[in-house]
Formats: sequence, structure tokens, C-alpha cells
Amino acid sequence: MRSIVLGFALFIAVSGCTGSTATPAGAPTAADAKKFIDEANETTLKLGTESNQASWVSENFITDDTSALSAHANQRAIDAGARYAKDAVKFDHVDGDPTLRRELNLLKVSLVMATPSDPKEGEELTKLAADMDGEYGKGKWCEDPQKPQSCLDINKITDIMRESRDEKKLRQVWEGWHTISPPMRPQYARFVELSNKGAKELGFPDTGAMWRSKYDMPPDAFSKELDRLWDQVRPLYLKLHAYVRMKLREKYGDVVPANGPIPAHLLGNIWAQDWTNVYSLVAPPNLDRGFDLNKILMNRKISPIDMVKTGEHFYTSLGFAPLPKTFWERSLFVKPQDREVVCHASAWDIDNVDDLRIKMCIRPNEEDFTTIHHELGHNFYQRAYKDQPVLLRDSANDGFHEAIGDTIALSVTPEYLVKIGLLDKAPDSSRDIGLLLNKALEKIAFLPFGLMIDQWRWKVFSGEVKPADYNKAWWDLRLKYQGVAPVSARGEEFFDPGAKYHVPGNVPYTRYFLAFILQFQFHRALAQAAGCNLPIHRCSIYESAEAGKKLNTMLAMGQSKPWPEALEAIAGTKQMDATAILDYFKPLDAWLDEQLKGKPVGWQ
Ligand SMILES: [Zn+2]
Repeated sequence: MRSIVLGFALFIAVSGCTGSTATPAGAPTAADAKKFIDEANETTLKLGTESNQASWVSENFITDDTSALSAHANQRAIDAGARYAKDAVKFDHVDGDPTLRRELNLLKVSLVMATPSDPKEGEELTKLAADMDGEYGKGKWCEDPQKPQSCLDINKITDIMRESRDEKKLRQVWEGWHTISPPMRPQYARFVELSNKGAKELGFPDTGAMWRSKYDMPPDAFSKELDRLWDQVRPLYLKLHAYVRMKLREKYGDVVPANGPIPAHLLGNIWAQDWTNVYSLVAPPNLDRGFDLNKILMNRKISPIDMVKTGEHFYTSLGFAPLPKTFWERSLFVKPQDREVVCHASAWDIDNVDDLRIKMCIRPNEEDFTTIHHELGHNFYQRAYKDQPVLLRDSANDGFHEAIGDTIALSVTPEYLVKIGLLDKAPDSSRDIGLLLNKALEKIAFLPFGLMIDQWRWKVFSGEVKPADYNKAWWDLRLKYQGVAPVSARGEEFFDPGAKYHVPGNVPYTRYFLAFILQFQFHRALAQAAGCNLPIHRCSIYESAEAGKKLNTMLAMGQSKPWPEALEAIAGTKQMDATAILDYFKPLDAWLDEQLKGKPVGWQ
């Protein structure tokens, strides 16, 4: 499950420019740059708000008309963002104050897709992007094309991957979903060609380099950082992989090799990116975590609004002001009976100041309880940076925004549930293994996937991987990082990357890898600030003013400083560090060593 941040980020995140860059008479001055940035801030706010309002209405009242109005408002904002990105280059040699310089630089790297200045090519690229997005959205696999009721969309595919334990059925559904993407292959190749052309016009070697340039360091240094972080957690991943493989082999037999990669269709998720759904297959008996939050929430008949109040209460216990009255009046918490809405959970900042909202169809279960904490993390971040100039109202880097709510969710410990009266008594530490194994199947299993998506795309954009090798390169990387493989040959007649939304949707993915690393680093630092001296997986920062102060200092910085400075404000170091993950999972790591004695680890 992924949620999105809407607001300013939405409209600088995509581009569809057809405007041209005019050359000014004479060299621009600092005063010109100031004027340019003032206008960019004002327009960004105005068009951003209009676009958010239109999107909110269209997602809450889905009709052809609201979709058209929303697309129109978005396009206006996107066009402006693209124009500013291109025009900012004019001020490259202007010395302004550091804030001005930062705003100019951020404008230049704000695009995810740069359209070529040739209007025909620009249009072609925009259309390709929209077409691939639409094809994915409409993607269905029909066991019998004559029978529409046999057709499965991604939600139904997801349900089967989660629930079925029938190897043949899982294989059939897995292969079925991957039939949606081969038609996208020629489109994607052309998309790469044109978007690279646009990126080059902005001075980047290719689109992948443009994406990597958003991280306040040279693109190559950023790639090395990712390798370093992955090397820190890889040994733990290998153990989790080996243990899960062993258990799946007990269940499914020889289709799971003793010491090779795990078949891609047996991990409970169509992309094998989250393994939580196979917990019941791999959990050791008598080591479950000792309580069932789903049952508790259900038995209490807790209302959606009380679930959100509980989430808000966590943040106010840290010293944050309560959410504004309008949040409660304007948010959507319950699926309406009378109309279609987009239920996918999201957090909004309509006016980029304090018109905060969430949109969710809340059900009384643990997943939604956790998601509420995640979404509110976006809202509290958004409000904390509202006093920054508009162009700096965003997270320190894109991983930070996703990490905040997850950091808070790591504090939803059994002891915390006891404190707020949801649990009578916290289970003793003998139950930690169940708790940690469950979390590892979500958090550790995701890391190599979170990394490999853009490893593939960066190679594709740079030309290192040619269209004739798209699928081979994809599976080479999935094997290298995840140790996952398809059960049947996946030749170049397929286009398996296209079966993951973020590829046809052109959404960069490294942010999720960063978010999964950062949330543990944040949690460890805040737990220390809160004076917790338990093992860190047992620490909750609930009611800690000290932790809240630290967190707020970082949130209020928004994007005004390079991210290492924001990180330093919370963690006391400018370096991302995955050792917090190792600290968190230490008991599990030792337990895995026990389980794997004499057993193969790794894959050929
Ligand atoms: Zn999110």
C-alpha cells in the first residue's frame, strides 16, 4: 500500500510543457532573479491551490465533468512548473542570497519528465505518458475473454495473491497480470527517447540523471550512497530470504529451490515487494505477537473518526497543535453510499497553508489504523513548513515525506496500546520474534525492491540497457537484489517492468527505499531523545515533548536546506545510516541465525 502526498509536490512533479524559452536582452541581474522567484512563488501557490481544489472534488465526486475540470487545472499548473524550470536556467550565473539560489536550483530539478521544445515531440511525449498511465489503469486479465465476469483488475489480482495458497492458481494469476504490459513496450522505448531529449535540453545527460540530481549531491555520489546503505542491510535481507525460502519449500515443495531464488509468484504480492501475506506460512508456532489489534478494534466497534482522533492524539502528545477545525469538516473518512470516490488513502494540503485533509475509506482494522498515522505524518509535515516560501514547502528530500508517518507508526507498540487503553496488558518479550518477523516481512523484504526499480530505469534512460534487453535486464536485477525469479522463461516478448504501476506511471521510486531507511534512523534518534532505554523496537515516543521538539525542528525546515542538514537536526548526523534497522531487528537477526544453522543462505 502506498499513499500519495498532494499539494505543491503534485504539480511540480510532472511536466507537460509546450512553452519556449525566451532569451532576455542583456545579462539578468540579482533583482531580475528575485522578481522571477517572487512571481514563481505566487503563481505556484495560486495554480497549485486551484489544481488541488479541482482534484479534491474530482476524487470525491467522480464524474466525466469533474475529471475534465481537474485535468484542466492540473495541466495549467504543470505547464507553469515546466516553464519555470526551463526559465530558471537563465539565472545560473546570478549571485543571490542563499535562499534565492536554492529556490532557483530546486526549480531546475523539479521536473520528473521534461518535454522536448519541439512542440510536436512535446505533444507526442505527453500523450505517450497519458496513454501508458491509462493502459495500466484499465489493465485487466481475463481467464476467458468471452466472459467479462472472469476478468481480474489489479485489486482482484491483489486479493488472490494475498489469500491463495494454490501454487498453480498463483502462477496463472501472476502470468495473467503480466499480459497487460507487452503492448506498452514500444511506447516505453519511444517515451525514453523523447524524455531524454527534453532532459538534455535542460542540461542533464538523461532523465535518470535528472532524477538523481534532486538529492543535493552529485548524481554519482548519490548512487554510491544507495549502494552503501544496501550493503549495510543486505546480510539481514539474505537471512530473511533464506528463512522464508526454507518455509515456502516446506509448503510448496520442489518448485521452491533449496538454495536458489524464490519463485516470484509465491510471496503473497504480485511484485514480491511486501511479504506480510505469507506470515502465516512462515511464522513459528507459539511465537505470534500475543495480541490481535484487528479483533480489538472490531470488538470495540471503534468509529472511523475515533481512529483518526487517536492518531491525532499521538501527534498532539508530542507537542504539535491539534489539527484545524476545517480538517474535521472537510476530510473524507467513510466511504459514501451514494457516489463513487477514490478510496486510495491520501493526505492533502489544499491551500499549501493549513487547509489540511485526509481522504480515506476507513475500516476498523489494523492496516487502516497504521495508515492513518502515516497520512497524518504528511499533514503535520505540511503544516510545520507552511511559513517557508512556497517553493520550499516540501520535504527535505522526497524520502522524508513518506518516512514521517511511518516513523510515528513504529511507536505504535504494545506498551503504547496499553497506555491508550486499547490493550489490557503488553505481551512479554518472548513474543517479540513474532512481532519483528511480521515487520521484517514488510520493511526488510521491501528494501531490494525499492532499490532495483530505479536501478533498472536509470540504466534504461542512460542507454546502458537497450530496448532489446528490457526484460532480461529487469530479471537480472530482480535476481541480483531480491533473489527472486520467474518460474517460466520471460523473454523479450514480455515487458514485465510495465506491470508495476510506477514504470508506466513514470513515478520515481528511490524515495520509498530512502523512506524505509530513514524511518528507522528517525525512530532511533527520537527514541533516544525521549529517553527510552528499552530495545528500540519496544520504544514509543508517545508523550515525549523532547522527541516532539526535535521532530518539529526538522519538519519546519521544509526544503529550505539541503537534506543532510535536515537529517542532522533530528539524528545528529548528516549521513543516512541503515544501522538503525539492524538495531531494531537485532533479536530477530539472532533468532534467524539459530533457524538457519547448517541451512543454505543466498542464491546462485
Ligand atoms: Zn504517504
